Parts: sequence; C-alpha cells; structure tokens
Amino acid sequence: MIVIVLTTILAMLGSITLATSTFWHRTSSHVVTKTSITRHAVVSIQTSIPVQKPTPSLTSSPKHVPVLGYPIFNGNTHLAEIALTFDDGPNPYYTPQILAILQRSGVKATFFDVGYLVVDYPNIVRQESKQGNIVADHSWSHPRLTLLSAPAILSQITAASNAIKAVLGVKPSFFRPPYGAMNRSVLAEARFAGETTILWDDSAEDWRLPGVSFIVSKILRLARDGAIILMHDGGGNRAQTVAALPIIIKTLKNRGFQFVTIQQLAEDLVAPPSQNAYSSILSDAKISLTSITQLLAWKRKVYR
Ligand code: ZN
Repeated sequence: MIVIVLTTILAMLGSITLATSTFWHRTSSHVVTKTSITRHAVVSIQTSIPVQKPTPSLTSSPKHVPVLGYPIFNGNTHLAEIALTFDDGPNPYYTPQILAILQRSGVKATFFDVGYLVVDYPNIVRQESKQGNIVADHSWSHPRLTLLSAPAILSQITAASNAIKAVLGVKPSFFRPPYGAMNRSVLAEARFAGETTILWDDSAEDWRLPGVSFIVSKILRLARDGAIILMHDGGGNRAQTVAALPIIIKTLKNRGFQFVTIQQLAEDLVAPPSQNAYSSILSDAKISLTSITQLLAWKRKVYR
C-alpha cells in the first residue's frame, strides 16, 4: 500500500518538478499586470467533513460537495472511475479538438481554465460547459502562487473565478494551482474562495511533447481506480495530446473504467482517514510545504 502511494507521489512530483521549467514562460503570450486583478469579497468558509457514499450516480444532478482545506490527488480508489482533466486552456485551436473527441466518445471531463483566457475565449468555455464538462479555476495568469502573498494568491483565484462566473453564471468549485505549486497559503486561500484544490496522480507531462506513444503508455500505466489524469489543452503545441486522447479513452473504457468529472469524483470520494493529521500540519507555522522533501513527508503522513 505504502509502495503504491509513494510511487504515485513520485510520479506526481516528477510532473510537478518538470513542470517548474520554462513551460509557461515559453507559451504565454499575454502580459498581465497586477492592476488587472481585483480583489473581491469571498464566500464563507465551510468546516464540515466530507463523507460521501462511494456510489457513482452519473445521471444525478450535482450534489453539494464540501469545500476542503486539503488537496485531492485522486478519487475513490474502490470505484472504477477516472477523471480526465485539461489545464491551461481555453485554447482556440486545441480545445475545440479535445471537445470534439470527448463528445464523440460520450465522455465528460474537467477543464482547469486560466482566467485571462476565459475572458479571451468565452465561447469555448461555454462549449466546455454545454457538453457537460466541469469548468474549474487555474488562476488568473498562471503564476507560481507559492511566491505570492496571501492577498495576491486570493486575487489570482477569485479573478479567474469571477471570469468564469461572468461567462457561465456560476463560480467554479474546484481549483488547481499552476505547476501544482502549493503551500498552506495557497490551500487556505483556495478554500476561502470556496474552491477545493485538485491535484493529480496520473500524468505523462504531455506539455513536454514526449511523443504520442509515450503519453498513451504512461497515462495507461498509471491509470487505476479513482485516478485523476492531467493533460493540457493550452499553453503550447498540444497536437500530441489531441492524438493520444482517443486511444487513452478507448483503452480505459475497454478496461471497464467510467469517465467522471471532478465534481462526480468528489461526490464519490470517501474522506481520507488522516484528515486530523493534515489539520495539525496546517496549523503548524513551522512547516512549509514548498520543498519536495517536505511535501513528500507531509503527504506520506496524510495519506498513510
Ligand atoms: Zn497550468
């Protein structure tokens, strides 16, 4: 069990570490200044502990899912369901191709959209939602949030949230920090904004363009009950992702997996058994989650 968890963590951390390179800088063409981000009043903090029945019910309307103060790396590991997630869009070239594949396959996914791109391409965001996908928050301008102050982190989250609300009429319930970079402030501000932080446990670093067969084989190798798959529909050339997606979907369907949105995955989630350990870590001012070593130790403690 521990070996499996650690393998998952290492895979995830590998993604995070590699994602820390030049990816966004090389691909982002917008200049976003702090003045374009406004602060907003935020929703109340919820303190209830999530206890959901682990029964998938794909046809029911969305249930209320408590906002969590800790990140979700995967869903219920006893259900044959997998969540496809796409970061860094909307992108006018690749996102429509991915939406077409999802629609053809009858699959719903989750799009972690960047706020300023939501403003630029609202019609794509509408299409994401119209097809039954979940639109979620990936910050306003994709900075490394761990380098920002708490108010600046909150601004990044709420500015993107408000951009999504302006297009869809509802605020997102889920947030993914750019590069997976997080610390206590990031988690706390996301929760304060009413959004649960979602990470992943299955990635092939598709943004590095490692080749279609590499993307397919690595994603399939890491796929398991409750997996959250990270792919990218924006931020650069995503032709390999577009090519890999139909193979991934078909193979995982053949293996008996059901594709769910992060909303559904969260509804089906059983609360991690060591939430109290997590809470005590979060309240310990001396603990920083910014280094890989500390993050490993922290996650090992939380998900033991
Ligand atoms: Zn990203």
